[in-house]
Amino acid sequence: MDKDLKSMTFPQLEGLVAGLGQKKYVAGYIFSFIHTRLISDISAITPLSKPFRSELVKQGYYISKLEVADKLSDPDGTIKYFFELPDNKRVEAVLLYDDGRATLCVSTQVGCAMNCVFCATGRLGLARNLTAGEIVDQVGLVVRDASCVARANCEIRNAHDARRITNVVFMGMGEPLANYEAALNAVRILNHPAGRKIGIRRITISTCGLPPGIERLADEDVSPRLAISLNAPTDAIRQKLMPITRKYPLDRLFEALKVYQRKTRNRVTFEYCLIKGVNDTVMHAKMLVKCLRPFMPASTRPRVARGGCNVNLIEYNPYESCALKPSAREAIERFAGVLRNSGFETTIRRKFGQTIKAACGQLGTSIK
Ligand code: SF4
Repeated sequence: MDKDLKSMTFPQLEGLVAGLGQKKYVAGYIFSFIHTRLISDISAITPLSKPFRSELVKQGYYISKLEVADKLSDPDGTIKYFFELPDNKRVEAVLLYDDGRATLCVSTQVGCAMNCVFCATGRLGLARNLTAGEIVDQVGLVVRDASCVARANCEIRNAHDARRITNVVFMGMGEPLANYEAALNAVRILNHPAGRKIGIRRITISTCGLPPGIERLADEDVSPRLAISLNAPTDAIRQKLMPITRKYPLDRLFEALKVYQRKTRNRVTFEYCLIKGVNDTVMHAKMLVKCLRPFMPASTRPRVARGGCNVNLIEYNPYESCALKPSAREAIERFAGVLRNSGFETTIRRKFGQTIKAACGQLGTSIK
C-alpha cells in the first residue's frame, strides 16, 4: 500500500492511526493539516505527539507534494496551471470563472490512453495514473494561489470566498474511470467535512463512457455528478472520433447509464463537442434526440423530476495539427434549437481560455 498520507481517505487514516495504537480522532488532525493547511511535512502536524510523528516517518509514511511549475492567464480570467510531479512529469489544471462559480478542472492521469481524435491529451498516450494525493493537491495548490482566484468577474465577496474553489470537475488530462480508485478517493477526500468540504453535487466526473466504471459508480458511498463525453449520435460517427466506441458501443454505454440512473436517480450530463461537417447538422441533432429520449425524466417539473439529463454543447477548440474544425455559431444555435424544441435542457458552453490553450480538448499541448 502506498504510504502517502495525502492519498488516504478519512476512514483509511482512522484505520492507520488505530493500527498504530492511537485514538481514531488523531486521524482528524492529520487530515485537516494536510488538506486545509497544506502541510507536507509530518513533523509539522504539531497536535500529534513527537514520538507518534517519528513513528510515522520511521514506518515510511510521507506527504506527497506537487509543484506549480508555471501558470498562464487568459484575458477572460481563466488560469491554466502546470504542475510538476515528483518524477518530473507534468499535468495541467484549469481554473475558470463563470456565473459566480470558481471551477477547477483537474487531471487524473499523465496523458490518456483513450486517443480521442479531437483531444490534444489523447495524442500523448498514457504515461501513468495520478494518485489520489496528486489529484487533490491540484485543488490545494490552486486554493493557495489565492491571488489568482480573487477576480472581479466572479461574484466573490471577501477574502475568505476568494480562496474557495466552488466546483471541481474531473475533466482535465486523463480518463477518471480508467484510474477509478484514485479518482473516487480524491472525490471522498475533497468532499470530507474535515478537509475542503466541497459539496458532492459540486464535483463532476467526466468520462468518455466506460460502462464497467459507470456501473461501479452507481454502488459507491459517494455520488458525484456524472458527465458523459458523447459527441456523436451513432456508433459510426463516434468510432471515428472516439476509438473507445469500438470496445463499448453506444448501446452498451446507455445500458450502463440506465443501471446508474436506476440506482442513483441522478441526472446525467451529456457533453457534445460540435465539429464542422462531422456531427453538427440538424439531422445529427434529430438522431441525438432519439438516442437520449430514454433519459428524459418522466416529469419535467424540477421538484418532481429525478434522473433525467441535460446536454452541454461545446464549441470545438482544435489543437495545432488537428484537421477538425469548429462548427459555425449558426450551426450550433440550430443544433441547440432542435434539442430544446424536443424538451432537452441544453446549454451552449462558453469558450474559456482560448489564448492559453486551456479550453476543452487542448490540455497537454505544451507537453512533448
Ligand atoms: S477527451 Fe478525455 S478520454 Fe478522450 S483522449 Fe482526451 S482526456 Fe482522454
